[in-house]
Amino acid sequence: MELLSDTDEGRACATDLLCKGRLVAFPTETVYGLGADACDDRAIARIFEAKGRPSFNPLIAHFSDVEGVKRHVHWTDDAEALAHAFWPGPLTLVLRKRENSPISRLVTAGLDTLAVRVPAHPTAKAVLGAFGGAVAAPSANLSGQISPTRAAHVTEAMADRIDAVIDAGPCSVGVESTIVGLTDRPVLLRPGGVSEDEIVAVLGGPIAIRKNVEAISAPGQMISHYAPDAAVRLNAVDWQDGEARLGFGPVECDLNLSEREDLVEAAARLFDHLHRLDSEGGRIAVSPIPHHGLGVAINDRLSRAAAPRD
Ligand code: AMP
Ligand code: MG
Repeated sequence: MELLSDTDEGRACATDLLCKGRLVAFPTETVYGLGADACDDRAIARIFEAKGRPSFNPLIAHFSDVEGVKRHVHWTDDAEALAHAFWPGPLTLVLRKRENSPISRLVTAGLDTLAVRVPAHPTAKAVLGAFGGAVAAPSANLSGQISPTRAAHVTEAMADRIDAVIDAGPCSVGVESTIVGLTDRPVLLRPGGVSEDEIVAVLGGPIAIRKNVEAISAPGQMISHYAPDAAVRLNAVDWQDGEARLGFGPVECDLNLSEREDLVEAAARLFDHLHRLDSEGGRIAVSPIPHHGLGVAINDRLSRAAAPRD
C-alpha cells in the first residue's frame, strides 16, 4: 500500500490508481472513504473484499460536480433545490438511476436507484475532479469496525488490503452524510451532517422519516433489495429441465459467475447475471459457491434471492 501525501503529486497518483481500477482511501468531510471507479465491477467487488463485508449493501457514488451526477440519475426539482443549498457537503440524495448509466450493479446492489453525493473536502474534490467520473466510497474500515477519521486508522486496519491512502490529516469527526430519498416523496433515510430542519426549510414542506433508526445503522438491512422475479434454487450440482443455469467453476451452464473459481470475478458478475437470467422467466439454479472471502457476501445475496416471499 502506498501512503500518499496531500500534494498535487499525491493526488495525481491517487487519480491514476483509480483509473486503473485500484482501491484508494481518501478523506471526505465526514470520514475517510475507500474509493474505487464506480463503473468498474471488479474494482467494486474488491471494495467488499477489502472491507470483509459479509453482505452487499449499496454504496454512495461521489462526484466532483452536479453535472457529473446528472449523467447518471433522473434529476428532480427537489434534487435541484437541495443540491443548490447543500452541495458540496454532507448530503446524499437517492434518485432513480438512468437506464443507460454505466454504474456497476454492485454499487446499487442491483436496485434501480443510486445514492449520489458531491463532497466538500478539498482533497476529495481534487481527486474526483481529476478522475472525472463516479467514485464509490464506503468508509475505509473493516466491516463492523469504527469509521476512520485519520489516515493512520486506515493504514492500521487496511494496509495489506488496499492500494493507497492519501494522508490529509484528521476529518471533521463523526458526522455521516444525511441521506434523503427522492424517488417518491422526500424521505429522510439517515440523519447526518445536514439537519432535518434545514432540509425542510429548503423543500418548503414536511419530509417523511424512515422510522426504524436502529435498522438504518445496519446498512443492507433497511433498504429494499433487488430480488429476482424468478424462483432461485441454491447449491445446484445438477440442472433440472427448464431452469436457467447460473454456474460457478468448470460446469456447463447458461452464464458462469467465474469459470476459474475467482470470487472477486463472481461478485463482480453476480447482479448482472441474475438480472439477465431473471429476464428469461422460469427458475434460476445456482452452483454451490465456496463460503469464504467474498463467497460469504455472494451466498448472503443468493439466499435472500432464494428465500420465500409474499
Ligand atoms: P456509508 O457509505 O457508510 O455512508 O453508507 C451508505 C449508506 O447509503 C448505506 O446505509 C446504504 O444502505 C445507503 N444507500 C446507498 N445507496 C442507496 C440506495 N440506492 N437506496 C437507499 N439507500 C442507499
Ligand atoms: Mg461505514
